[in-house]
Amino acid sequence: MLTIQNYVRAGSLEEAYALCQKKNNVVLGGMLWLKMQRNRVDTAIDLSGLGLDQIEETDSEYRLGAMVTLRQLELHPGLDRLTQGAMAESVRHIVGVQFRNLATVGGSVFGRFGFSDVLTLLLALEARVVLYRGGEQSLADFAAAPRQRDILTHVIIPKGERRVVYLSQRNTATDFPVLTCALSRREGRTLCAVGARPGRAEPFEDGQGLLAGGITPEGAQAFAREAAGRFRFGSNLRGSAQYRQEICQVLVRRGLLAMEGE
Ligand SMILES: Cc1cc2nc3c(=O)[nH]c(=O)nc-3n(C[C@H](O)[C@H](O)[C@H](O)COP(=O)(O)OP(=O)(O)OC[C@H]3O[C@@H](n4cnc5c(N)ncnc54)[C@H](O)[C@@H]3O)c2cc1C
Repeated sequence: MLTIQNYVRAGSLEEAYALCQKKNNVVLGGMLWLKMQRNRVDTAIDLSGLGLDQIEETDSEYRLGAMVTLRQLELHPGLDRLTQGAMAESVRHIVGVQFRNLATVGGSVFGRFGFSDVLTLLLALEARVVLYRGGEQSLADFAAAPRQRDILTHVIIPKGERRVVYLSQRNTATDFPVLTCALSRREGRTLCAVGARPGRAEPFEDGQGLLAGGITPEGAQAFAREAAGRFRFGSNLRGSAQYRQEICQVLVRRGLLAMEGE
């Protein structure tokens, strides 16, 4: 059980940052992951009064506040257009609507969960994160870095024409995924991200130009084989490493062909 001694609704990011430097203090997102921990928290730091619950749009990007919920992502028309439905597809399997009404972007990204659908798609979209002290950096760098005591304030998704597809494999509906796979293609450049291998999602790019001339069935197969050969897979109760590697090839190839078919 999670036990909280003190609660502070932060009045500023500065206050939240100062409080989170103390080892036994914890920043709250939607608390869905946190509440499952057996932990004794000194001060819980609530960011809900800081106006971080908005999705802002500029000419070049979408800025997601840390307290934006997964349900907001799922229903946002601009994100839906930008990703051709992949944003909604990436979150729709996560437990249920009530859950997604609470789970936040900040908690999902800062948690860097090895099973994360959200992280997988955002990596393929070349998202950036903004940390109160650490400043702006690529999500790929942030996801690969060790955990730090900072406040994630925003996630930035660049705009621009791109094809996007999201696919995941689950043993049963709403369970954690066995494998997650996101693909994006922009000006002939293809990026794929695969997660739940199990392990934090990682990006892979078509460095050999296997798809430079367009997506053909042979090119998609070659890229899928290359991607499945590059990632490291592991086993857990949901699937073996070998099964995941097979599924990776299938999802990457299907995703590429779906992109071409659109
Ligand atoms: C039963 C269950 C099933 C799930 N299934 C899936 C699934 O299938 N796919 C999937 O992608 N995800 C899944 N999730 C994860 C879920 O979608 C959320 O990502 C997770 O609950 C964290 O979001 P939260 O808002 O609840 O964060 P919290 O639980 O409140 O926080 C998570 C962590 O992030 C820190 N934190 C939160 N916000 C910030 C911030 N702004 N700055 C710095 N640190 C911060 C907290 O201190 C904590 O360490 C599941 C979670 C649960 C509990």
